[in-house]
Amino acid sequence: MTKTQTKANFPWLGVIADDYTGASDVAGTLVDAGMRVVQTFGIPDPSRQLHDVDCIVVSLKTRSVPAPEAVEESLAAARTLKSLGVQQLYFKYCSTFDSTPEGNIGPVADALRKEFVPAGQLTVVAPGTPALRRTVYNGVLFAGTHLLQESSMRHHPLTPMSDSNVPRLLQAQTKTLVGHIGYSAIEAGAAAVQSLFQNLSAEATGYAVVDTLTDRHLAVLGAAVLDHPLVTGGSGLVGGLAASHGSRFQREPAHDARPTGPAAVVAGSCSEMTRMQIDAFRQSRPCFLVDPVAIAEGRDVVAEALLFARENLADGPILIHSTASPQEVSRAQKKLGRAQAAEITEDSLSTIAEGLVGLGCRQLIVAGGETSGAVVRRLGITTAHVGREVSPGVPWLKTETDPGLSILLKSGNLGKPGLFLDAWDHNR
Ligand code: ADP
Repeated sequence: MTKTQTKANFPWLGVIADDYTGASDVAGTLVDAGMRVVQTFGIPDPSRQLHDVDCIVVSLKTRSVPAPEAVEESLAAARTLKSLGVQQLYFKYCSTFDSTPEGNIGPVADALRKEFVPAGQLTVVAPGTPALRRTVYNGVLFAGTHLLQESSMRHHPLTPMSDSNVPRLLQAQTKTLVGHIGYSAIEAGAAAVQSLFQNLSAEATGYAVVDTLTDRHLAVLGAAVLDHPLVTGGSGLVGGLAASHGSRFQREPAHDARPTGPAAVVAGSCSEMTRMQIDAFRQSRPCFLVDPVAIAEGRDVVAEALLFARENLADGPILIHSTASPQEVSRAQKKLGRAQAAEITEDSLSTIAEGLVGLGCRQLIVAGGETSGAVVRRLGITTAHVGREVSPGVPWLKTETDPGLSILLKSGNLGKPGLFLDAWDHNR
């Protein structure tokens, strides 16, 4: 057996993602690059044999938990991935570098480096993901045409981003020296980047934030870090890595998670794009609103939602949402408290999702990161095979727990306005 064939039987990449929808984003990017991908929710079963899989993506919820918890879980995930035979680890965080001065990106990366990276070797930091319009120029992170600190991330409830300078953001979270590699080095090619890695390492720099403005930059960087034991970044660099690795492997085509059957959207995301997607859906399809205040006042909104589902599910896709305007959300939060409003909403939407599956729903879109976490947990989904992307960062997943059920986890701001209408037809 040749070296290439031996390698192809084991996953080469193990991704540790700090939230569920971010994990789906990476998984979709890898499938798009022709990889066979399994996504797990929580740490995979170490006794599980994962042959004929190129990449394992572990979805954690470690973005906003206390840093020691995030470190412990990420290390446990990394150790399990290594025991499953992965050759390279990828720590995936948000392309908007969602974090605070306490972490969790720095502490998690430090712990992974300590255990898996030989002393004196540098680790790259590349949040830039041009497909999602996140770019890094001179170390400064842009969301579209806005500086990160002037984008909507400035007002994020958990990780407000008031600085756009990635080396400075990371340096506040780690004692390891953080350096920077500009886009002109990237344009000079992978060998030039590797020689800069060596120069920086010689100066005791442990992290290099790398400018990435285009997919071409990501491809060059992917080639430059091909043999690094640990790579960190957004979903963009994973595509560059996959492109370089892909040429080393002889693979079967990616798993085809083609969804069919009764279809529904459950939305708890109140992000601008989700609201546009709901507005577009509402023009031609039936919607039901779940109001957390009405639930707190004792109305059985879950039963009403499932009655609505029973009456409409057979006639085409339906949508059940708690999604509301910022004014309505703040009204609910004032009445119930922020945490209580979220808890009531996530609990109700999870019960509704469970009810929908019970009613025969076979294609389920869940909108919202936190909402996805709650629904996936309620449905008891632990492992899924990743299918093609409906749009960048949003693939269909075929669950192992319930083989006929396909789910799509959409983070708040991803997708185009027509996503809830187009997602089903896309794969038919
Ligand atoms: P996104 O990916 O857009 O950030 P999330 O699901 O992560 O979406 O977060 C949305 C949060 O808002 C969830 O905790 C959800 O329960 C909460 N939420 C949703 N609808 C309402 C509402 N009508 N009132 C108050 N909170 C809500």
